[in-house]
Amino acid sequence: MLPKRRQSRARTRIRRSHHAMRPINYADCPRCNSPKLPHAACENCGYVRPGLSLKVEKEG
Ligand SMILES: [Zn+2]
Repeated sequence: MLPKRRQSRARTRIRRSHHAMRPINYADCPRCNSPKLPHAACENCGYVRPGLSLKVEKEG
């Protein structure tokens, strides 16, 4: 089955008005001040939250 009527350009554009991507939100790590993703461990120092941090050693 196909749609009965072709949707107007305006309707298509109204639907797509919600499709824009947003830039990724970063939070500054309180320990090393490098940008990290919220609710995730810091890539640089492994900090997650007070009392919890992961892998401190660097690969090399
Ligand atoms: Zn950090």
